[in-house]
Formats: sequence, structure tokens, C-alpha cells
Amino acid sequence: MNHRLKKLQTWMKENEIEVSFITSSENVFYLSEFFSNPHERLLALVVFQEKEPFLVCPGMEIHDVKRSGWAHEIIGYSDIDNPWDLIHNSINKRINAVKKAGIEKEHMNVERYEHLLQLFPNASFVSAEEKLRMLRMIKDEKELKIIEEACALADYAIEVGCSEIKEGKTELDVLNAVEYALKKKGVTEMSFSTMVLTGANAASPHGNPGQTKIQQGDLVLFDLGVVVDRYCSDITRTVAYGEINDKQKEIYDTVLKAQLAAVEVSKPGKTAAEVDLTARRIIADAGFGEYFPHRLGHGLGISVHEYPSMTETNQLVIEEGMVYTIEPGIYVPNVAGVRIEDDIYITADGAKVLTKFPKELQIIK
Ligand code: MN
Ligand code: MN
Repeated sequence: MNHRLKKLQTWMKENEIEVSFITSSENVFYLSEFFSNPHERLLALVVFQEKEPFLVCPGMEIHDVKRSGWAHEIIGYSDIDNPWDLIHNSINKRINAVKKAGIEKEHMNVERYEHLLQLFPNASFVSAEEKLRMLRMIKDEKELKIIEEACALADYAIEVGCSEIKEGKTELDVLNAVEYALKKKGVTEMSFSTMVLTGANAASPHGNPGQTKIQQGDLVLFDLGVVVDRYCSDITRTVAYGEINDKQKEIYDTVLKAQLAAVEVSKPGKTAAEVDLTARRIIADAGFGEYFPHRLGHGLGISVHEYPSMTETNQLVIEEGMVYTIEPGIYVPNVAGVRIEDDIYITADGAKVLTKFPKELQIIK
């Protein structure tokens, strides 16, 4: 049994949970090292306190499961099987009555829940999500190494993006060049849809890249991430095309100051709220408080958004091994949109910054 499954089993024993039924691709991967995107088909990892766990997957994926190193039972079903009958049999071989079952309440759907109610008619259902989020929040050495690799590719992507900025090019021209360059390096998946936003478009924190042409005096915002071995990176840089005005410069300098301060204060023992507020106060003191409408950052790993959530109210204490983003932004409509985002890893001494592309204002000629 791997150490992650053991931790889940310990939690199950402590809380008298006889069975956990894990269905999200991310958590199945975290616990089994097998990743699949099964679309509408059922993927499930069924875990018991003591008995051998089993993995349920579409039959055509059985070989992939074996190749991933999963050494326990695999239940493959065809498109004409009813997987629930097979699951019922495998559970009955292991345990009889279930009083408490762990599920991912935010991921489970009603159709599957109704099947589980039939399998465990006397059970109450508790959330296993919170426990898994807390486990996933602390990264081990192997995870850190992969994330560092994903961050190095994100740095490379920004470098390519900057070199592609030229008079007359559109946001999509630059975006395509960035993703093409990554594909040539073997990247098959981005953490989310790549963002290249210029001028007024950059003032929308979640804008959509399109046919807008980059013009002299624009701030161009890149927000992108690369997936390596199932782990995500997430970087934002805002660069200037030609000379920008004093107001734009003031906004850039304020975001940079806030970002650097939040990195500096990130260390074990601080709370997420303290880190968020460090940046938020700097932005508010400069008079831009109302233009920073989102949290400071988020944890990062198998999912691009995970724990810890870096908000001004989260009293969660920062610990060694966490990986999270620091991404303050100021978005003033028709003036400027600036965000600077790094991924950091918490060591005993403080933050190790994993994304390394320069943060001092880059002026592209
Ligand atoms: Mn981002
Ligand atoms: Mn982010």
C-alpha cells in the first residue's frame, strides 16, 4: 500500500468510515498514480480500512492501469456492462455493512449517489474531499521536482511570447506562437486556456484573447501554465510594448511592490490571510484597493486551483511543502491591467520562487 492510501485509511479508521468511493480523476491519480479522463464513464477508487482497495475503470484502460504500477485489483467494464453490479460483488467480498462512506460531495453526481444509496442503504455519507485537499496541499520532493519543470516551461513560454510581440500582431497570433513553441518541446497540455491580452483587454482579470492588434504603448498580459506529468504551473507577466505612460508605470510598480512583499512574508507560521493582506494593503495604500478584486493566490498541483486559498480571511497556517501562487493585480478600465504571478514553494526558511522570468518591467521595442 502506498503512503498516500495509508494516510487515507488512517483517517477512515479515526472517523469510522468503512469505505471511501473516490471518483475525481485528480484524487484517483493522487492515490493510485493512475490518471484517466474517463469523460462520462465511471472511474472509481474504492478504499477500505484494512482490505485491499480496488480500481474501477473502462475495460479498455486496464493495460494503462497496470502500466501505471497499480498492484491491486482492477475492475474493467465494457460499454455494455453495468459497472455497479461488478462493484457490488467486489465490495461484498470485502465488507458487509457500511454505516459511513466517504465520497467527494463536490464531485459526485446524483445518478452515482443513487447507485451508492442502493449499495449502502444504511450508510451516511461524509466528505472525503477536505481530507484529500489537506493531504495534497503538502508536496513531497518528487512533486516539487515536477512542478519546477512545469514552471521552467512556463518561463520559456513567456520568453517566446515576448519575442513574438510586434506591430500588427494580434493576441491570437502571439498565443498560437507560444503554444506551438511549447508543443515542439513536447508539451501536450496547458493548465488552462492561455491568455494573451493587450491594452484595454488586459484590464479584465479573466479576459478572452481575440483578434485585437497589439499597439505601441500597450501593456500586454500573459497568463498561462504548462502541465508536466499531471502537475500544473501558472504564471502571469505583464510587459510593455514601447513606451507606456506614467499612470501605467505607477500601476505596474504598485503591483510589483505588492507581489514582492507577499513573497517575502510567505513563510511557515504566517497565515494565508497575513500574506494576502500584505499585498492588499500596499495596493490599497497606493489608492488602487477597489481595482484588486480577487484573492492573492491559490495552491497549485494536480489541479491548477487547490489548497491553500490565499484570501484575506483564511486563517490557515502556512507550512513547509506548500506550493501556491502570488498574483496581485490592478485593473483600471481603459487605463491599465497589470498582474504579476509567481508559483512559490515554502521551505523552512521561506519562499522559493519557482517561476523565474524577470519581474522588473520589460519594455519590448
Ligand atoms: Mn494564472
Ligand atoms: Mn493563478
